Amino acid sequence: MNAPLIQTEGLRKAIREGAAERVILDRVGFSVAPGEMVALVGPSGSGKSTLLNLVSGIDVPTAGLITVLGRELGALDETARTRFRRRHIGLVFQAFQLLSTLTVEENILLPMELDGRADRAAMARVAALCERVGLGDRRAAFPDVLSGGEQQRVALARAVLAEPRVVLADEPTGSLDEATGCEVLDLLTELCRERGCAVLMATHSRRAAAACDRALRLEAGTVLEAVVAPA
Ligand code: ADP
Ligand code: MG
Repeated sequence: MNAPLIQTEGLRKAIREGAAERVILDRVGFSVAPGEMVALVGPSGSGKSTLLNLVSGIDVPTAGLITVLGRELGALDETARTRFRRRHIGLVFQAFQLLSTLTVEENILLPMELDGRADRAAMARVAALCERVGLGDRRAAFPDVLSGGEQQRVALARAVLAEPRVVLADEPTGSLDEATGCEVLDLLTELCRERGCAVLMATHSRRAAAACDRALRLEAGTVLEAVVAPA
């Protein structure tokens, strides 16, 4: 069995609320293997986004271990975690999170640019990815003239440009109508499957969960309780 690309152990996230402490996640442990797509399901407020932010190193846990590609994130300072994320983790968000002042191409290139790796090869890959996601003729457009589905396709291209082994998606179809959401989901699945990425995707969509190999359920409150087969 291949070593997992994502592994968490005894993960806990608590926040201070005045004198009290509120536990958002507790005893969360799971792993995701190379090439595996895992849905993260559970009601609103169950901690899906919090968990994704921990795995991406945007946020830090109160306790527990997170290992991505064999690196324990707790051993990295914030700067090192940011660099690690840009290099190895593709991120997709519900609200797309494109920069409105940058063109499609510039948005896709941005994470590699920030990582100092926007060379000719990367730019050639941007062009190819624009074609691949059906936006070959929109490369110079700004996000505000694109539909929601088009904007999310730009975000998918941005997420995979650096050929990350790990992709984290937070309700990637949550802002889209059903038909557009299906198209975006199919594209995300194809792009990640053909690259053998490990995918962890928070979703409310049964169809999105069913497109994954398995699902992890965050129960109301805090504990990651069960591994359930997709519907
Ligand atoms: P989900 O993505 O499953 O809807 P979240 O991870 O966004 O859940 O939120 C889990 C819980 O943590 C919620 O109760 C939310 O209100 C709380 N929470 C998340 N981030 C913060 C924060 N920065 N400050 C206070 N509460 C937070
Ligand atoms: Mg959320």
